[in-house]
Amino acid sequence: MSDVAIGVDVGGTKALALVVARDGRVLGEARAATPHDATREAGEATAAALTDLVHHLAATHQLNVAATPVGVGLPGLTRKDGRLAFAPNLQSASGADLGSLLGASLASSRVFCENDANCATVAEHEWGAGRGVDDFVMVTLGTGIGGGIIAEGKLLQGRSGFAGEIGHMVVEAHGIPCPCGGMGCWERYASGSGLKRLIREAAKEGQLPTLLAAHGSAEMIRPEDVTQAGAEGLEEAIDLLRQVSWWLALGLSNLVAVLDSGHFVIGGGLSSASDLVLPFTRDYLANLVEGYQSRPAITVAASMFGPRSGAMGAAMIAFERDS
Ligand SMILES: [Zn+2]
Repeated sequence: MSDVAIGVDVGGTKALALVVARDGRVLGEARAATPHDATREAGEATAAALTDLVHHLAATHQLNVAATPVGVGLPGLTRKDGRLAFAPNLQSASGADLGSLLGASLASSRVFCENDANCATVAEHEWGAGRGVDDFVMVTLGTGIGGGIIAEGKLLQGRSGFAGEIGHMVVEAHGIPCPCGGMGCWERYASGSGLKRLIREAAKEGQLPTLLAAHGSAEMIRPEDVTQAGAEGLEEAIDLLRQVSWWLALGLSNLVAVLDSGHFVIGGGLSSASDLVLPFTRDYLANLVEGYQSRPAITVAASMFGPRSGAMGAAMIAFERDS
């Protein structure tokens, strides 16, 4: 049994790899760009880049790759057997059996793939903001929304391994088109993309005089500019964060209705504004959740590991499945 595992979080633009001990300590890290080479067979460019990344990290830390379990978090629908069935943000690998490709190129039978947000959820459950909680949902707010569900102490996988695609719950019938092909998906409203849309709308209505004066145009105002201005107390930025929080709370209340979750862990880029967003979200939840006063308290916390949670959880998945 290995004392350490390598966890890799594969995003649409970059991959983060960590060496993680069984107690969750991070012993090393390396990063690489995620290639988008559509001229090669699906997934081959990704597998080659990840192979180099894992070899580099292993060499730096004197690890034997074949003897070290490797967990990989993938940005899309990931089947239980490791195939990346559908990945709108990594189309050159969509449909590829990345688990087998990577296992072959690393000459290892100890490669385990899982959806990236499910990995983040497992890390928070084992070591972080969901530790000791048997029923919670992790929500990662980035360009889109990822999610993972812990139900009765276990990661909910569903029939094929695709459970937890909470960003594509429809919250507005006939709403904004989504890269998934649907319309009105939650991630179009409560993520960084949702905040960008709110910025454009508020700018058009003349509600962002200070931000517009500072950045020139609505297109130049980034979500992180809004979270920073909000933290500095700018009321027009706080208003935008309040609106995003309402959309966040709306989706969470739907999850409570289906799952009876008592706890939410919020991660991803937007969670850097958690000091503002989470209190607003808690207030809105009290109005949106059915029978809120009659339920045990529902808590909302920020992720403990931030951008590292996916890679840490991928390592945890490798520990769990390497037996
Ligand atoms: Zn969608």
